[in-house]
Amino acid sequence: MMGAKPKPMLSKISLIIAALITLCAAHAQPHKRPPAPDSLRLYVFNCGSLDISDPERFRFKKEELATTNLSVACFLIVHPKGTLMWDVGAVPDSALKPGEKSATEGYATITQTLASQLAKIGYEPSDIEYLAFSHYHYDHVANANQFANATWLVRKVERDAMFAPKPPDKVNPANYAALKNSKTILITTDDYDVFGDGTVVMKLAPGHTPGHQVLFLKLKKTGPVVLSGDLYHYPEERRLKRVPTFETDQAQTVATREKIEAFLKQSGAQLWIQHDYLANSKLKKAPQYYE
Ligand SMILES: [Zn+2]
Repeated sequence: MMGAKPKPMLSKISLIIAALITLCAAHAQPHKRPPAPDSLRLYVFNCGSLDISDPERFRFKKEELATTNLSVACFLIVHPKGTLMWDVGAVPDSALKPGEKSATEGYATITQTLASQLAKIGYEPSDIEYLAFSHYHYDHVANANQFANATWLVRKVERDAMFAPKPPDKVNPANYAALKNSKTILITTDDYDVFGDGTVVMKLAPGHTPGHQVLFLKLKKTGPVVLSGDLYHYPEERRLKRVPTFETDQAQTVATREKIEAFLKQSGAQLWIQHDYLANSKLKKAPQYYE
């Protein structure tokens, strides 16, 4: 019928107008990343929790643990010379639908997105210069695709496993597929000093996975801190010297733990066990930060 004809034209015009409005808005408020601070900052984000119903996989009975829950933390390190994201969650932001209070995938639940927490301190994922994971398990890399613009700092053995035709257990390749084309630095040394001044150093700590690493931070006020990756999950693992059943190499984990414990003594650094639910609940969360 004739009456229906003008519609496509109208909707085309309204689309153009909408695009113009968006362009003008973007022009009026260009995104500016926050200025670099004078000294190192560490932001901790709430990236959800893991509800572990079977702690036997960690060689524990329920009653041996203060809680079976594990926290999931994501970290932004802001150095005067640049920014580094360390571990990016267990559930991708896209799983949390508008209007929903939480999203659950497997063991993991989130109640807020990583991007919204970054936005509150003025950053967009595309602002971030460097991306690194303690290791490739799904609960550390879920939002990787959002950081594909960053330079990925990774050990070859981990990257090779992630993009192998048959990836290892506990990985979700769709959540990091975009990193395949990211600018990448393949780390070949046990220690990798990210900004060249000894304040942000990734340390090889294999066993949990072949290229598992921990992150040493030299914070002015807080003092030195090591972010554990999954060197331990429950604090009881450290005290009772239990090694989970699903390590890539259990003997290597034992040797690595000895090496890192010696480093902690020598450096005086605190160990922050990233999955330690009770310890994590006491940490300052962004927009607050450690310095
Ligand atoms: Zn983990």
